[in-house]
Amino acid sequence: MRKLLIANRGEIAVRVIRSAHKLGIATVAVVSEADRESLAARLADEAVVIGPAPVASSYLDAEAVLRAADETNADAVHPGYGFLSENAEFARSVIRSGRIWVGPSPETIELMGDKARAIAAARAAGVSVVPGTDGPLTDTDEACVEAAKIGFPLLIKASAGGGGRGIRLVENGDELAATLATARAEARASFGDDTVYLEAYLRRARHIEVQILGDGARCIHLGDRDCSMQRRSQKVLEEAPAPNLPEEVRREVRAAAIRLAEATRYIGAGTVEFLYDPDRSAAYFIEMNTRLQVEHPVTEQITGIDLVEQQLRVAQGEPLAFRQEDIQFSGHAIECRINAEDPDRQFFPSPGLITVMRWPDEPGSRVDAGYDEGLAVPPFYDSLVAKVIVHATTRAQAIETMERTLADSRIEGIATTIPLHRRLLDAPEFIDSEHTTTFVEAYLSRTAR
Ligand code: ADP
Ligand code: ADP
Ligand code: MG
Repeated sequence: MRKLLIANRGEIAVRVIRSAHKLGIATVAVVSEADRESLAARLADEAVVIGPAPVASSYLDAEAVLRAADETNADAVHPGYGFLSENAEFARSVIRSGRIWVGPSPETIELMGDKARAIAAARAAGVSVVPGTDGPLTDTDEACVEAAKIGFPLLIKASAGGGGRGIRLVENGDELAATLATARAEARASFGDDTVYLEAYLRRARHIEVQILGDGARCIHLGDRDCSMQRRSQKVLEEAPAPNLPEEVRREVRAAAIRLAEATRYIGAGTVEFLYDPDRSAAYFIEMNTRLQVEHPVTEQITGIDLVEQQLRVAQGEPLAFRQEDIQFSGHAIECRINAEDPDRQFFPSPGLITVMRWPDEPGSRVDAGYDEGLAVPPFYDSLVAKVIVHATTRAQAIETMERTLADSRIEGIATTIPLHRRLLDAPEFIDSEHTTTFVEAYLSRTAR
């Protein structure tokens, strides 16, 4: 690999550029007109403007991205997360153009991108799944029959959904038909695909996931993470390893993740997501993400492995450099997602010029930022501004380090979710690792001012 084009923006584009440069690989940033002055454009060796601000004519425009690869003679493409990262057609076009695609095969992306098919693949690999429909639903009558078997409450999930979108709660049978129609229409509008399936709603669950790495011949895991701190099904804080998890469940989810990945001859980095029900001490597969994940740094901190570097190595055909026994876990890591949103105004987006951005030089803390002081957060994209990651010997020390780091961080010009994180870090449920996926929202309504 000589020259890597990064088909993304923000912190993940910056993150990928750093690892590529470390390996002596030149980089190309593709940017929209709104991102001309971005940190990624500044740090990359070359930057190409591929279109106007709206994502459909820039970051989601596969042809524009491939034209930029042609113009700059890039021989590899890293898709980051979101945007085109789980678009099998885009992966195929990159490969067809003779370039290295940094990700799993288009067939694997296609399989896992269809959540109903992914569940079937997991079952076939002997992985337990949440009780639900066995594949996609075809009509409302079938939905009623299936729903009666599953029981209420249940979720209607879009097969093509992601990023916390395309999930609808149904409390009882009376709501089913109407919610099903809405869910279908929304899925068609958002994802261009109205396929949905039903899944039992777990009232008390923790989100546990396993990081895997494969080279097509074998797979290893890099441990687990807990991402139960969520708002509207979107993660706000993640940690590794998952705290307060029985060792047999930890072993089981790790082994299940490897079985599923090996069944697809997985290449690259991927994440297998589970819901853990503490009352039953059981974990159930929900989906697999065939890309690098926002929260990958917590895994990097406890393993000392640069996941982007490993993605690049495997993509250019190197076999995995590690055996499972080589992976050692050390300490505890926590990540807070710092979004340009105002927690005091219902998380209203807060784009604009960042007049001050200063992070403390705290031992054990790392900041992956997509912006710098003097740059503006555009209103067109997701609101993630930076991720603060800390690493310490124990979880309690990691919480303290995070508290100090956030207390000494200064961001002015935009509102951020830092005040929310500072409150959450102090909540007894979080400190005791008793929180489930509904905790953040329950906490917010309990403490509403
Ligand atoms: P992670 O577990 O890495 O946080 P998310 O599912 O939150 O993964 O997605 C990461 C990013 O990708 C977010 O910016 C999210 O908005 C975006 N994303 C993921 N899937 C989709 C999708 N199907 N449609 C639109 N955006 C998505
Ligand atoms: P996405 O593709 O948007 O990431 P997921 O299927 O991974 O969707 O679910 C996102 C989040 O929604 C989970 O982390 C969890 O908090 C919640 N969730 C998903 N499925 C269930 C379920 N069956 N019961 C309860 N909560 C669920
Ligand atoms: Mg998910």
